[in-house]
Amino acid sequence: MCGVFGIINHKDAANLVYLGLYALQHRGQESAGIATISHDGIASDTNLGEPIGSSGAGEQIIAPGAPQIHVEKEMGHVADIFTQERLSRLPGDTAIGHVRYSTAGGSMLCNAQPIVASMSKGLIAIAHNGNLINGAELRHELEQEGAIFNTMSDTEVMVHLIARSKERDLERALIDALSRVRGAYSIAVLAPGRIYAARDTYGFRPLILGRLGESLVVSSETCAFDLIGAEMIREIRLGEIVAMECSVGPGALTALRVVHQFPSTREARCIFEHVYFARPDSKIFGNNVAEMRKRFGAQLAREHPVDADVVVPVPDSGVFAALGYAQESGIPFEFGLVRNHYVGRTFIEPKQTIRNFGVKVKLNPVREIIAGKRVILIDDSIVRGTTSKKIVRMLKQFGATEVHMRISSPPTTGPCYYGIDTPQRRELIASSNSVEEIRRFIEADTLGYLSEEGMLNAAGNGGYCTACFTGKYPIVRAEAAEAAAIVST
Ligand code: SF4
Repeated sequence: MCGVFGIINHKDAANLVYLGLYALQHRGQESAGIATISHDGIASDTNLGEPIGSSGAGEQIIAPGAPQIHVEKEMGHVADIFTQERLSRLPGDTAIGHVRYSTAGGSMLCNAQPIVASMSKGLIAIAHNGNLINGAELRHELEQEGAIFNTMSDTEVMVHLIARSKERDLERALIDALSRVRGAYSIAVLAPGRIYAARDTYGFRPLILGRLGESLVVSSETCAFDLIGAEMIREIRLGEIVAMECSVGPGALTALRVVHQFPSTREARCIFEHVYFARPDSKIFGNNVAEMRKRFGAQLAREHPVDADVVVPVPDSGVFAALGYAQESGIPFEFGLVRNHYVGRTFIEPKQTIRNFGVKVKLNPVREIIAGKRVILIDDSIVRGTTSKKIVRMLKQFGATEVHMRISSPPTTGPCYYGIDTPQRRELIASSNSVEEIRRFIEADTLGYLSEEGMLNAAGNGGYCTACFTGKYPIVRAEAAEAAAIVST
């Protein structure tokens, strides 16, 4: 999963993208990057004259007198990468940024974004959230034609498609390129004087437009708007490409223009964004994430009631579902597990060793809340089952008399091919075990999952992808299987 953020027409563009990425850090912790350009294409700093570069940490693309894109990207967390000194190397009033995580093997600097490219249509930088279903096929085709790839991500496929399009101007080339890709993409493309933002025709990943004074912003989630004081305008529509543009000079004005609308035959917004991934203070797909999770929890309480003393969330993603469960059931809510916030989210750490280590250091029960109690433990999902088992055991060691596990989504039975780094099917405990077998494995007294119907009813409207729970993949499985080999972006 990744996070994308961009802003046009602001003198502190790089700093604001830094803040935006900081708010989106939960969407990717492996690498982060910012690319900037001045709206007239001429940067105002002292770096003019440095050599032409392709992309990478601290590099920039420069031809004397020509537009420039400056880029800084690095492995690690946003706050560690972007020092004041580094941000000062990102001049210009228009910028995009990206936070990234990948599948194992793809965690390296060459795959960090934004990807910067110089082509006959001009300079661009691109930041992408999602996975292309036909990325491998397109890459093969492009390589046969002589294209050289610097990364393993399918984002670079889009760059090549834009560059090789027979359309002469960037805008038409972008439309042409996006007409050829299939799968999940929410992208921001930086170019002189504008940022293009686009979303695939299924709408798998969120992408939202906002305004900050005279500036226009785009973000994967609204929590980034809140941090910088921007207001949400609307979501980018399914299959829509918009241009955020800026006139030149003092008092420059921004404008929003719909560039193209691809027809959308099916809406497939990722329900897992609401279950787990997005921040609870964000509004995505028309709903606040915290409210949605509370609705899932309330529905879970109706579907799987149990006589108990306390409702305890697995923090942080189980918190709002547990609140909903507690409110619906009338059983008191307590923070019976405390999370150490200085340990990363185990789910998206790429190494198994870190994941195992993380479970032990991440959560600690509060003995005074747990001891002697019948506990309803709420989590968003069970992936391998090993984490749940450790938590159940911990609660019993701390004196819980019963532990009733409740999950605010259906059993996770299949991988995601649209940009969420769920493990392979064979690693998913629910792919080959019944609920009762899982209950025995995690050593809970009872186990209950939210039903698919209950989840969709709680979501209140249709148009969601539920494939990792139901096997109903919105894009056919044969293509999706091929995409599994592609590095997640
Ligand atoms: S398969 Fe699951 S994680 Fe992937 S887009 Fe669909 S609901 Fe989201």
